[in-house]
Amino acid sequence: MCGIFGIRGHDAAAHLTQLGLYSLQHRGQESAGIVAVDPSGAARAARTMGTVSEGLSGTALDPLSGAMAIGHTRYSTAGSSTIDNAQPVLVRFRGGHISLAHNGNLVNAAELRLELEEMGSIFNSTMDSEVLVHRLARATADAPEEKLAQALEGVEGAYCLLVTIGDTLLAARDPRGWRPLVMGRLGDAIVFASETCALDIVGATLVREIEPGEIVAFDDDGLRCIAPLPRRDLHRCVFEYVYFARPDSTIFGGSVDRARRALGRQLAREHPAPSAELVFSVPDSSNSAALGFAEESGLPFELALIRNHYVGRTFIQPTQAGRDAKVKVKYNAVRDLLQGRRVVMVDDSIVRGTTTRGLVAMIRGAGAREVHLRISSPPITGPCYYGIDTPTREELIAANLAVDEIASHLAVDSLGYLSLEGMLAAVPGGPHGFCHACFSGAYPTPPPADPEKLRLGCGC
Ligand code: AMP
Repeated sequence: MCGIFGIRGHDAAAHLTQLGLYSLQHRGQESAGIVAVDPSGAARAARTMGTVSEGLSGTALDPLSGAMAIGHTRYSTAGSSTIDNAQPVLVRFRGGHISLAHNGNLVNAAELRLELEEMGSIFNSTMDSEVLVHRLARATADAPEEKLAQALEGVEGAYCLLVTIGDTLLAARDPRGWRPLVMGRLGDAIVFASETCALDIVGATLVREIEPGEIVAFDDDGLRCIAPLPRRDLHRCVFEYVYFARPDSTIFGGSVDRARRALGRQLAREHPAPSAELVFSVPDSSNSAALGFAEESGLPFELALIRNHYVGRTFIQPTQAGRDAKVKVKYNAVRDLLQGRRVVMVDDSIVRGTTTRGLVAMIRGAGAREVHLRISSPPITGPCYYGIDTPTREELIAANLAVDEIASHLAVDSLGYLSLEGMLAAVPGGPHGFCHACFSGAYPTPPPADPEKLRLGCGC
């Protein structure tokens, strides 16, 4: 998963992109990068491993002059976590510069790459996104938006893209609309971002979402929108509402906070915890769902688990050892609230169960008498091929254990997962038009030919 941000028409383009990336940091912490293009067409990149504040602050932006910039925060779907795979990609081709930032995962990247390699292409990285750059460089159309349309022909899977070709800024969203992408305005400048929280930070106003299958181009000739890609059924990622996006964002036309509260309320209706005395969340991603649960059940919401904000999302550690160590570093329990109490712990999802098991032990260690775990999404039973870093089936606890077995593995007094129907009915714009493959197994595309290769090589 990744966050992308782009702007054209503002002298402080790179600095505004840096601000935008700060508010998209939750979408990826492995690497970050900005490419800026100046009026002479010269493009320069700054990329770093780690977060925006670690490597894209201070003097790092000094060389990035120009009124157009795109940026990226990367969270690889496993795979090589190296600077070569940091985005935006920047290349020089016969028509000048191309830069590209991608959020999503292409399911036929391996085939497309092989095709290109057989024609002599040489790749610098193991990212699926690099395939798109080669296809762009080979496209024969004149207009930049038509070039991008040509490059995307036959490309399958999830993508939100920000691209610069010469002096033009382009945005594109795949026909199924898996990932969110919005367009905003800041004075005369046009801004694109994965989530509206990135418009807020730069003071831009939301114009609209980029439509599934749409390409938008912006340059000195103005704004042009085309819809060249074949229509497909909508498959917006429901996990964006459940976990990924920020609650202060509006994505897919709905408020993330509102979606999560509705998920929490529905969860309380499906799985009440009559003996419990209080509700708390696993901060931050389940705060809104826990509030919804508390509202619906009439129980007080308490801040019984405190998160250290100087530690990133546990899952984003690419190795299991890193994740294990981080549970205690990241969370601590408030003993005075928990001692002798019967409590409901609300979380948005269980993936491997590692963090959750550690947290339950911590809550019990702080003296809780009963721990009732409520999850505001259904059991995750399959990997995501469309950009979320879910591990292989072998590592997914709900792909291998039944709910009662998970409850005993986690040592909780009761466990309730939200139903698939309940989740889809609760999210804004539901129940139709969402991808829920990781919960239901209903994959909208054939799985990639070699999922392991995809995990090891590609995407974000
Ligand atoms: P675990 O118990 O180890 O499966 O971890 C569960 C926690 O991981 C929950 O608190 C979720 O909010 C969080 N989580 C779920 N999906 C992801 C993801 N794709 N990336 C990072 N964290 C996640």
